[in-house]
Amino acid sequence: MIIQRVVLNSRPGKNGVPVAENFRLEQSTIADTVQAGQVRVKTLYLSVDPYMRCRMNEDTGSDYLQPWQLSEVADGGGIGVVEESKHHNLAKGDFVTSFTWPWQTEAILNGDLLQKLVPQLVNGRLSYFLGAAGITGLTALLGIREKGHVAVGANQTMVVSGAAGACGSLAGQIGRLEGCSRVVGIAGTDEKCSILVQEMGFDAAINYKKGDVARQLRELCPGGVDVYFDNVGGDISDTVISQMNQNSHIILCGQISQYNKDVPYPPPLPPDIEKIQKERNITRERFLVLNYMDKQEASVLQLCQWIQEGKLKVRETVVEGLANIGAAFQSMMNGGNIGKQIVSVLK
Ligand code: NAP
Repeated sequence: MIIQRVVLNSRPGKNGVPVAENFRLEQSTIADTVQAGQVRVKTLYLSVDPYMRCRMNEDTGSDYLQPWQLSEVADGGGIGVVEESKHHNLAKGDFVTSFTWPWQTEAILNGDLLQKLVPQLVNGRLSYFLGAAGITGLTALLGIREKGHVAVGANQTMVVSGAAGACGSLAGQIGRLEGCSRVVGIAGTDEKCSILVQEMGFDAAINYKKGDVARQLRELCPGGVDVYFDNVGGDISDTVISQMNQNSHIILCGQISQYNKDVPYPPPLPPDIEKIQKERNITRERFLVLNYMDKQEASVLQLCQWIQEGKLKVRETVVEGLANIGAAFQSMMNGGNIGKQIVSVLK
């Protein structure tokens, strides 16, 4: 059977900026028959995520991420529909997901490695299982619960960087739902800042590409910062950490501003900022959502409930067509997305 797939065409280099041309669309084939335990799936949605930047390097720098190989099909979070099944628990028409979904229009997969989805949990918005009701939502929720020390009634101020992105837009809302009294976002455009305040209930948002971030933070967080949900690292994080309170907490979610640089993860803080962190006893522990998968089921149900109740507002940037997945990745790395970046494969 003939299919379309996207392979890694070239590596950007550890210090290079990734571009759409690092990926290549090509025609390929899959077997005509499905073996026992396997299913044939049609791909519906693919997730495009910053961690994929590491997979473009020969060495990802981490033991839990494998590099993509040149001229081999790329993979990541995906959702599809079962078209043919020889697996005892999956039937034609079932919607399924996996973290290692190949970037191709159709595939034959091992049914044991797929999770069945219940579309009703997300009001039929299947792609949410890659975002707000998937690994992204889990990252925001579990990051806050495991590392944020947020408590109802504690009058805490939370700052979120990368705030209009997939994790950040949820983290600010969840921070509020979990008890923070003030939530301030930092994002890269006025449009993003306005969505954060008007749609997502942030108290304020700062466009870091305009004006003086330190001064605006001081004005918007007069009592200092108690919890910092850090998606970006670099100068923005140094500025936030300088305004954090004694015994406050950083949720070290990601450091996207450093992903095109050959530096270790997490990148060390500059000496003056590290001094502040130590003197003020600010926690900055590594957080990896995959270490908390025992909490996945209950946490996804919590996220779905908030979505159904309208307490969690969800934004997606959907790019249509498998051929455009490289462009979608390039755009997301450059701030072109609001909320979760998704590729809809069928269109
Ligand atoms: P995302 O935030 O939706 O997309 C990336 C965003 O980062 C862009 O829209 C852009 O927004 C911002 N950005 C890009 N370059 C930047 C720079 N140099 N400085 C400041 N902001 C920059 O992606 P996501 O999936 O939600 O991921 C956010 C972070 O969480 C990433 O660092 C990712 O690696 C991490 N993550 C961690 C875990 C975990 O288990 N720890 C799990 C998932 C994701 P602007 O327009 O605002 O610049």
